[in-house]
Amino acid sequence: MRVTTLQWAVGMFSALLGAMMLIVPHRFEASTYAALQPHLLWWGVAFLLAGGGLLAAALSPLGWLVLCTHLAAGMVLLVLAPGFASQGAWARATNYVVLGLGTACVPLIARRRETETVESGGDLLALLVGLGAALTGLVIMAMPGQLSGRFYGLIRPHLPLYGGALMVTGLALAVGQFRPPSSPIIKWTLYLAVGSTLLAFAGNTAVAVGDWTGIAYYGGFGALVAMTPWLDPVLRHINSSSLRIRLALALIVAVAAPLIAAVTIVTDRDEQSATGQALTLQKTIAGTLADDISRYLSFHQAAASGIAKAINQVQMTAAQQATLLRSLGEEYPNVLSFATYDDHGHTIARGDSSPRESIGGSPVFEESLRNDGPSQAFQVSPGGNRLQFEFGAPLRRPDNSWAGVLVVSVESVRVATELQRVGSLTRGKAYVVDIEGRLVAHQDSALTGSFQDVSGSPPVAALLSGQNADGVLRYANHNGPQLAGFARVAGTVLGVVVERPLAVALAGAHTGREIAFTILLLMIVGAAVGGSFAAGALARPLEALAREAKRVGEDDATVALPESSIAEVKDLARTFGEMGSRLTARTQERERAYGALREREARIRSIMDSTSDGFIFVGRDGRVKSVNQRATELLPSGAAWAAGADFAPAVADIDVRPPEREALAATLRSLLEDRDPAGKGDLEVRGSGRVLHWDAQSAKDESGGTVGLTITLHDVTEEREVSRMKSDFVSFVTHQLRTPLAGIKWLLELAAETQDPGELQAYIQDARDANERLVNLVNDLLDISRLESGRLAVSLQELNLGAMTESVLEELGPLIKEKGHRFSVSGVERVPPVVADPQLLRQVVMNLVSNAIKYTPQPGEIVLEMRRENGSVQWAIQDNGIGVPKDAQPRLFEKFYRADNVHKIETEGTGLGLYLVRLIVERFGGRIWCESEEGKGSIFLFTVPLPGGKDTWTNPASGS
Ligand code: ADP
Repeated sequence: MRVTTLQWAVGMFSALLGAMMLIVPHRFEASTYAALQPHLLWWGVAFLLAGGGLLAAALSPLGWLVLCTHLAAGMVLLVLAPGFASQGAWARATNYVVLGLGTACVPLIARRRETETVESGGDLLALLVGLGAALTGLVIMAMPGQLSGRFYGLIRPHLPLYGGALMVTGLALAVGQFRPPSSPIIKWTLYLAVGSTLLAFAGNTAVAVGDWTGIAYYGGFGALVAMTPWLDPVLRHINSSSLRIRLALALIVAVAAPLIAAVTIVTDRDEQSATGQALTLQKTIAGTLADDISRYLSFHQAAASGIAKAINQVQMTAAQQATLLRSLGEEYPNVLSFATYDDHGHTIARGDSSPRESIGGSPVFEESLRNDGPSQAFQVSPGGNRLQFEFGAPLRRPDNSWAGVLVVSVESVRVATELQRVGSLTRGKAYVVDIEGRLVAHQDSALTGSFQDVSGSPPVAALLSGQNADGVLRYANHNGPQLAGFARVAGTVLGVVVERPLAVALAGAHTGREIAFTILLLMIVGAAVGGSFAAGALARPLEALAREAKRVGEDDATVALPESSIAEVKDLARTFGEMGSRLTARTQERERAYGALREREARIRSIMDSTSDGFIFVGRDGRVKSVNQRATELLPSGAAWAAGADFAPAVADIDVRPPEREALAATLRSLLEDRDPAGKGDLEVRGSGRVLHWDAQSAKDESGGTVGLTITLHDVTEEREVSRMKSDFVSFVTHQLRTPLAGIKWLLELAAETQDPGELQAYIQDARDANERLVNLVNDLLDISRLESGRLAVSLQELNLGAMTESVLEELGPLIKEKGHRFSVSGVERVPPVVADPQLLRQVVMNLVSNAIKYTPQPGEIVLEMRRENGSVQWAIQDNGIGVPKDAQPRLFEKFYRADNVHKIETEGTGLGLYLVRLIVERFGGRIWCESEEGKGSIFLFTVPLPGGKDTWTNPASGS
């Protein structure tokens, strides 16, 4: 869920409220803010700080800052709620509670800022505004009677309509934050509906009562919600950490903070002095009014005394008095009547034509009687709304004793006019109270003489307390704060109070504050716009530089450097340009070097891979750094030797005898332990049967330090085999030659000693046979040696196989007969002549047939069959003799090899015959193999290619 919108909006709202509290505090005089009023200045600072903190939190995701500012902002919003609730403004109270709680709980809901990047996530502000609206709607619907008329007067007839609209749209908006509507049209309609409902509500409640915070709340948040679908993409792309945003905000703070402080101080001082002046003025007005009334009263008192004195002096008769009194009417226009009364209060004479009456018991009469002097009283005119004063002066007898009273009745037109004048001049109230705190006269003639008890009103109470004859005070009543001046009317029981609403008294100062606030707002907006332009101008070249840096990073050689008039940026761009070209040059140089290096490496690798030796390079860390193809082929499980592999376990895995492995492992250990590593040895790998010779040398760097170990592997399987074969051969030959030679020596010694010519003949014959075998053996060895080295001279000629086979059988006939074998030949007539060396081919047939005779217990069956097969002639010599064991079959054609089963039947033998046969057959381009089952017999088959056949044999010696 996105939190930034809330941070921006609630931050601005709180800051705005804070600024208003500081600069235009008179907007918070309504009783909804009663709780804040005593410390409005500090609340203003708190709102400003909380709002600023939220804005900062929107820019920097510091955990503790977010936590504190959200808590603070939530609290200050919550503080507003009870005031509104107490005044029956339930809608606002509900909204502040929802917004305050929501703001305070945000750090708990959205602990991670990353969650904001989720495209489908809702907006927390929209959620809270939606919830607030829905709850407001519910409150309006549920308790319409509780809603104060002051706020809802205008919409009272439509309350259910507003309630329903707020509830439905608000709920839809809140739900929409969790399940965003799929169609943009529905989304826009939803936001517009909530926004316009809130705006309409604002217009008809807050604007109607001039409630500024209400206008800011409903108007601001309503407009914001209505615009959210349009603002959404912008908000998503705002990079709060960008220089542009931060600079703009810094500029706003830099402009706003001192301005707010300065304006607050100046306007406050202005207001204080204006209040002081207004208080002084109020006091002066009250004093002047009291003086005026006092003078007015004393004037009439004096008049009464003067007239009484005149009557007393000459002791006028009733008729004279009547004449005098009648003549006075024109001189005193305010006077209602002049009348004289005797000591019983009965009328003596009157200046008007009113009927005579008695005033005995009236205050003016009784007071004069009591004091034996002048008296004063007031009363309400018979009409009821005019104050009348009565002034009494004593009438005296010639002995100066009290004889009655002259009463002058005055209608207080002058006082009434005066009160009205002052009241309308100061746009306040002016009134007169008596000593008991009863309203005697009022600018509003309807109240005059009402004798309403106003002693509870603070200025009247102050007046009655009697400490000062006059004074001034500031107090608040249901109409807000008031300034009141009061003064006693000297020589009377009356007091004058002049009241004025503070707002009126300070209207000038408040206008100044409003103007200052408007200018401040304009300046902040200007600072924001200017700041964002200035920041843009500053950031643009930097952004361009960043873009170019990215291009350089992507190896783009053409870099366009941004132009800027700012010296530092210019410097930076130039330095960057130089850096870029150096980097480009260096990159190219490095690429060239890298290319050369790669080429060299490829060359070395191809050399390494083409040698028949394996190379392994092991680094100081005991890991294989490099290995050539041949090494992985030679060593078992090639993957274990890949570059990067650990050398020691790979060594441990080779299947060789432990001492051989240990030698290699020891060399590696000396490398790891920093001793000079070197060594060599053989590895006889058991699986492959290969013998590898390794030679390890330490690799040194230029300073002579060991950097690793180079191991060369050489496949010495063949060398080792050859040397083994050589020693085998020597022991064989010595053995094979010694036996017949020792036999011949012994036979010759016997022959020399015998006297019997028959015996002598036999000895010599035996010696000759042994000698023959010796010669045959040597011939075989010679042939083998020549065939192996390719030095055997071959004479090729067309060969009649039938004749050749005949001659072999002829030679072997006696032996076959002696053994009692049956022998048959077939297919001679079916095969064409072949081109071969007759001697060698005869030797092949001879060898194979004599083996069949030798290894077949008598009497056996031997079959020789010849046939033509795919461009070659195939011989098959089959017997039913001892056969060849399965495991011996693959090795039958090796030099000196004899199967284990022959020893009990034929001890004489060299194991050279079949080897020689194979060499000859292969020399002709043919093939030889054996099929056999032990105990049942064997077939030896070989082929010789026909001339013109596929595998035509060419004689290297003859060149044809
Ligand atoms: P030699 O006969 O002197 O031992 P050869 O090279 O002629 O040497 O034969 C090699 C081995 O092949 C013999 O020792 C024998 O084990 C086996 N062999 C050859 N021919 C036969 C056969 N016809 N039947 C059984 N084993 C045979």
